[in-house]
Amino acid sequence: MAKSFKELGKKAESLIEQGHEADKKVSSCQARVASSSSRVAAARRQLAAASETDDEGRPKGNVEQARAQLGVAQNQLAASQRALSSAKEEANRVRQQKNAHVQEIEKHNAVERSNIEKLRRLQSSAFAADSAGLTAGMADRLNQAEDARVALLKSMGINATAEYVTVGADAASSIAWSGGGFSAIDTSGQIMSYRGGSGEGMTPGGSVPTPIGGALSSNGAGSNWGSGNTDSTNQPVNTEKSLLGSKWFGKNADRKQQKVSTIDFNGITLENNGMAGDKYFVKGSNYERFSHFWKNYSQYSHDESNYSTTVNSRDIEGIYINNNEAKDSHLFWNRGMVYPEDSEIYFSRIAAHIPEVRQRLNSGESIDSIRSNPELAACYDSYFDTPIEVYKIDDYYYFAGSGRHRCMAAQKLGLDMPVKVIGQYTSNISTLSDTHDFETLSVYMGAKHGVRLDSSIGNLEIGTVKQALSGLESVVSEYPDVGVLLKEGITSKSGVMSCTGSKLSFNPDYFSDLNTLTSTCLTQSKMHHWIPNASPQSIGVHEAAHGVEWAIIQANPNYSSREERVIVWNNCSEAKKIVLEACNRVKQTTYGAGKTNSELISSISSYAATTCSEAMAEAFADVSANGDNANPLSKEIKRCTQALMRMYKGGF
Ligand SMILES: [Zn+2]
Repeated sequence: MAKSFKELGKKAESLIEQGHEADKKVSSCQARVASSSSRVAAARRQLAAASETDDEGRPKGNVEQARAQLGVAQNQLAASQRALSSAKEEANRVRQQKNAHVQEIEKHNAVERSNIEKLRRLQSSAFAADSAGLTAGMADRLNQAEDARVALLKSMGINATAEYVTVGADAASSIAWSGGGFSAIDTSGQIMSYRGGSGEGMTPGGSVPTPIGGALSSNGAGSNWGSGNTDSTNQPVNTEKSLLGSKWFGKNADRKQQKVSTIDFNGITLENNGMAGDKYFVKGSNYERFSHFWKNYSQYSHDESNYSTTVNSRDIEGIYINNNEAKDSHLFWNRGMVYPEDSEIYFSRIAAHIPEVRQRLNSGESIDSIRSNPELAACYDSYFDTPIEVYKIDDYYYFAGSGRHRCMAAQKLGLDMPVKVIGQYTSNISTLSDTHDFETLSVYMGAKHGVRLDSSIGNLEIGTVKQALSGLESVVSEYPDVGVLLKEGITSKSGVMSCTGSKLSFNPDYFSDLNTLTSTCLTQSKMHHWIPNASPQSIGVHEAAHGVEWAIIQANPNYSSREERVIVWNNCSEAKKIVLEACNRVKQTTYGAGKTNSELISSISSYAATTCSEAMAEAFADVSANGDNANPLSKEIKRCTQALMRMYKGGF
């Protein structure tokens, strides 16, 4: 982030220069391969001529010498092929660096544009004179960076148009950036075609075809994408819905109704919610969080990193599909080329070997041995030797720009795949009260609790959801295990809210409107069906208490299998221990003397009387909502819960 625009421009120039050098090297190596090839052919002819025999059966020429010359020529050819291969690898490396640099410029420009926007707003204020000069300077720097970006893209054969910011009379013109995003262009094809050593300029051996290879040649690269023109071939069925326009969400009448367009891309969902002009992103498991990152990039702190790891491919966000590709999956996968095998089928087949290659590597098998199978060799080369590069954002990943086809093939199969993490971004939303919409709430819940919120929660009323979550958080702060075990927030029609230990569910019938839920709470408390003073927050506490029960089951060392734990959960066995122990203790007090268990329990609430699990959950809610005024049994249940957890964890 610290880099200045001047540095960005210098680096772009240097990369373009390096690219020229690398291209020159590639063409001179290509020429050498061609001349070596013809030398080999000539030596073959000479050997054939020398080997011809005269009438007496003796060779006409010096066979030994001709054979030696052929050997020399063949060695030269092999050497020139190796040189070509490494020249191409170098060219490809430069191309990848260009790609990364384009991405960096795009990010800087996005930040700078938002700064300019802020300054423009200032121009109508008292600071007008100061800000006008500042704006002009910033616009100038931004436009220079824009030139660098376009020059870099052109040097990669991609036609891009600079999007300049204007200052002055036309200050009102939109500076919202519709373009950019070229950084996602895939260069994996080159990596693949440079591997395998089948020898450029020679007939390919029996190796596996690499369909993408070569399609991204430096002169034709721009033709298939980037221009954003709308081919109307294969118009997909678009499902349109409004993103923020859902009547409950945001409550802000002025909020722009953003059109969302979704495409089923043979099993992968693409979505365009307007965050990158007319471009689509592959929708992974953390799409809403990624959307927040994309739009608020400058608010994330950034650190360098460089390590390899294995991640679930669907945890990788940010794979970028241009409009015309989105509308024609064949164009995306095959880039308008005809390959012996459809590229989508090829990549899916190669990706399917990932688990086997990983397992064989883990068992200590040598790479050579794995690569002796051509299918596994293709998989190893594509996924393990040159893993896809990603940035880590909180606890999910952001595609660094190269290898879209490889990554999407793995995503289609939902596979874990090797990646190289080249940077880390961390969100700065540190408390629940800092969240103000579904996106920020998703970022917060993911980063703080590792809980993925289903997009259907975006249709609920955010304030009501937050109140319930604040109840949940109060329990998590006492029982951190509950947060660890909880993985997902979903919506369903189960109860008002429900919890399975790993899944927290909100019923849209109640969470779409704060008034509905608040009046439900009032009525239920009045009828003594729920605890006194029930609220969305106490409901959150109630559900989190079910999570506490699940955490206690996990902590009990006597259970060994998941099946066993599920049976215990279904029978409320641990809750039963807690509630009965608490009843026995309360009976020894003046309040409880002479009362039966069921009298004691139903005095918490009638809902508490349904099962011991509900008694435990209502007790937690009661203490949270009513503090010292809570039912004596509720307070005792909370104490006993803590004691049991401590006992299972081995401390007293
Ligand atoms: Zn319950």
